[in-house]
Amino acid sequence: MSSLAMKQDPSNFDVSRIRQDFPILSREVHGKPLVYLDTAASAQRPLAVIEAVEDFYKNHNANVHRGVHLLSQEATDLYEQARLDLARYINAGSDREIVFTRGTTEAINLVAQAYARPLLKEGDEIIVSRMEHHSNIVPWQLVCEQTGATLRVAEINERGEIILDQLEAMLSERVKLIGVVAVSNALGTINPVSEITAMAAKFGIPVLVDGAQAMPHTKVDVKALGCDFFCMSGHKMYGPTGIGALWAKKDHLEAMPPWQGGGEMIRQVSFDRTVYNDVPAKFEAGTPNIAGAVGLGAAVRYLEGVGMENIAAWEQHLLQVGTERFQQIDGLRIIGTAKHKASVISFTLEGVHPHDLGTVIDHYGIALRTGHHCTMPAMDFFGVPATARASFGLYNTPEEIEAAAGAIEASRKMFV
Ligand code: PLP
Repeated sequence: MSSLAMKQDPSNFDVSRIRQDFPILSREVHGKPLVYLDTAASAQRPLAVIEAVEDFYKNHNANVHRGVHLLSQEATDLYEQARLDLARYINAGSDREIVFTRGTTEAINLVAQAYARPLLKEGDEIIVSRMEHHSNIVPWQLVCEQTGATLRVAEINERGEIILDQLEAMLSERVKLIGVVAVSNALGTINPVSEITAMAAKFGIPVLVDGAQAMPHTKVDVKALGCDFFCMSGHKMYGPTGIGALWAKKDHLEAMPPWQGGGEMIRQVSFDRTVYNDVPAKFEAGTPNIAGAVGLGAAVRYLEGVGMENIAAWEQHLLQVGTERFQQIDGLRIIGTAKHKASVISFTLEGVHPHDLGTVIDHYGIALRTGHHCTMPAMDFFGVPATARASFGLYNTPEEIEAAAGAIEASRKMFV
């Protein structure tokens, strides 16, 4: 993934033009220009997304799939167009392989309950890495409690990289699924997903990829990754909240029983027997987040327009500038120093609790995330309860990094 980024020249990236696409970036916070360094938690939305959602509600709003009237047909077309956009974007075999969900969390829970739960039994194993987000840990703990299977942990090294030979040694016929994050939200590590899927393939083990942080930073090709399931969230990739998707190989989706029951997921219902709908409708019970899907389709087209290679190159540039600058700050320790990293810098500051730092630098207009980032096992590994995290998106600039570094230095003087 990172090699792609290196091929592009970041000096060709017109960040001032990009910033004009994001209206929120021109607002002030506590009387200072907003410096938004919290894109890993939720990205800001470009006008293209805001306008697509607005246009949907103003001109096409109706429920999907069930109406013969024109508005319902238009809403259905827009909703299904978003599925096509997403399928094209990640190189899915077909748009039928895309199930809309509320986001990554719901997508992983869907796989845990509809794919894993029916097949797991005592003695079976699921493997996840120590750097996983809680949403790729807890659904597996739940399904292990339900079935008697065991959750095992692939360990990481001091740089925050999965120790691949240890992972390989854990593989056996007992392992029924590996869950791995493509890009760690807490450490920035870009994991070698293709290498992991190749290892898993030797034992016929399916791999689920938590792609929440991969989608905004890098070109995702699910076929090239060789995975079985890929989960994503709209709001991490400049789209709306409350919408995301599960991509899964069609064979899996067809073999899986439905997860939730209700309207839309059925073909025919009687008290004797209910016949389920085809995929992906089988997994989309109830009225979906139609406007959210429309906005997500617009986000995909926006990212395609800017070009993922250009975005990745610009963000690698920001990562380099940010890493070099932050390393000059007294008492700052970067947590997560993997060889292949996305534009996320987690750090601690000697003598200053991350929450205090976050609160103080908010008054400089700088939005940083502080806490455990829903990755408590990774925090435990590094012996810290929390970090501060600067995460850069396509709209950030080296000047903003400098402003953040200056504010961190000024804040430290207040405490130490
Ligand atoms: N996985 C990773 C790596 C994340 O960063 C996040 C959100 O921070 C999630 C999963 C959960 O995403 P969502 O809350 O959109 O379901």
